[in-house]
Amino acid sequence: MSETELIHQYPSQETIRKIRRKALKFFDSDARDLPWRKEHDDNGYRTWVSEIMLQQTQVVTVKAYFLRFMKAFPTVKALAEATEEEVLKLWEGLGYYRRARSLHAAAKMIVEKHDGVFPQTFEDVIDLPGVGRYTAGAILSIAFDQKQPILEGNTIRLFSRLIQLEEDVKKTASQKLLWQFAEDLLPNKNCGDFNQSLMEIGALVCKPTSPECNGSELLNDSCPFRSHCPTFANSLQATIPFSEKKTVYEKRNDALLLLINGNKVLLQKHTQSDWWDGLWDFPRCQLDRQVEIQKWFYEKSAISIKLSKPAQTIRHAVTKYRIKLDCYLVEEFDGKLKRNSGFIWKPLSQIDDLPMNSTARKVADKLLANN
Ligand code: SF4
Repeated sequence: MSETELIHQYPSQETIRKIRRKALKFFDSDARDLPWRKEHDDNGYRTWVSEIMLQQTQVVTVKAYFLRFMKAFPTVKALAEATEEEVLKLWEGLGYYRRARSLHAAAKMIVEKHDGVFPQTFEDVIDLPGVGRYTAGAILSIAFDQKQPILEGNTIRLFSRLIQLEEDVKKTASQKLLWQFAEDLLPNKNCGDFNQSLMEIGALVCKPTSPECNGSELLNDSCPFRSHCPTFANSLQATIPFSEKKTVYEKRNDALLLLINGNKVLLQKHTQSDWWDGLWDFPRCQLDRQVEIQKWFYEKSAISIKLSKPAQTIRHAVTKYRIKLDCYLVEEFDGKLKRNSGFIWKPLSQIDDLPMNSTARKVADKLLANN
């Protein structure tokens, strides 16, 4: 299906001009005061770091991480010279750790390939690890005012409604049309403010379930685009954006083992994990039944254990998984740790300094509080 066959209402040039003016006005008067907006970023570094942190993560969470990160690594060079463990430690709790590893790898690449100066061409920026079409456009428009379109979660929703796109937004033809709309909307200057304004309106006004145009016409006029929005005019906010495929969540049972020997605790460092590469953790497996957990651990470590009831159960989510994590305090164990098991006895005093995933940190905090 070509984009011209998609059911939608494309606005006129005149409407597009009005949308531009209103978006820029909104940014001047209503944009949030965020740490990465405090000063203009003329070298791209702050914008880049903030954009990577904002992928999959809410603004409110990112703020403190951003400030700490900038304090520790104020330049691309400082980031490139840090160890992976230092970078991961500052990322601890932000999740999606691949972003941190890619950011670190990209900083090294910028130092080696671009003398430590953040590149300013689309080709060079998209070539950096962890940077896709959206992120490259966001960095180049925000930091260098280049005329680059953006399309991410908030703008997909906003644009779909502004063109009343009655098709699955995930379809290739829909994505193509939305990118085209993003490009057509761009003004000749202030593209960074403009793009940020669109994301801001998407996040704060054109919200997924209760967009700010749903209320009374007299009381609620906070969406600047209301008089240009066919979705509002036709009361289709509840069905647009349309998506055929909903995310299917999977339930999973995991187990975590806490073994303490004197002043040492048994840990592992993930090396082959999509989620947690480079992070420290307690022995952990994707098993539910105690007999299987005991068998798995013995085969890996040569230490036999006897489990009783879990000391704690943590429920958490990673990507599409909804995980029930049973944490066992293993009081009965026997045997000498096998070489190359992947586990290591670490002094309890070092735990605080190691980068850990969120659930391991929860268990570690509890452990340290009791020791
Ligand atoms: Fe979104 Fe409503 Fe504004 Fe349309 S009028 S852009 S649906 S908030």
